[in-house]
Amino acid sequence: MGSAYSYKCTNSECGYEATISGGKDYGFCGEVESMTCLDCKELMDVLIAPAPKLKPIEPRCDECKGQNLKKFYSGRTRCPKCGSRLKKDPNSDILWD
Ligand SMILES: [Zn+2]
Ligand SMILES: [Zn+2]
Repeated sequence: MGSAYSYKCTNSECGYEATISGGKDYGFCGEVESMTCLDCKELMDVLIAPAPKLKPIEPRCDECKGQNLKKFYSGRTRCPKCGSRLKKDPNSDILWD
């Protein structure tokens, strides 16, 4: 079980929004970490160690299966679409399991 946050692009013309854990987290399918796919230009939680063994694997993008991934750092990672700052939505505490 973990929590996810909504990150929104501060550029209103872009409006990109992603719901991610914002770092490392544990879900029902294993350990995930938030990353940007540079090919899809998407921010997502990528599985880095599948349950139940939690043995680390090479992270791959969910969409394109590529490995052109960059770790997400809250406050540092920019919008994958337009490069503007991302803002964490404080009202977006979503619990999932
Ligand atoms: Zn991708
Ligand atoms: Zn943007």
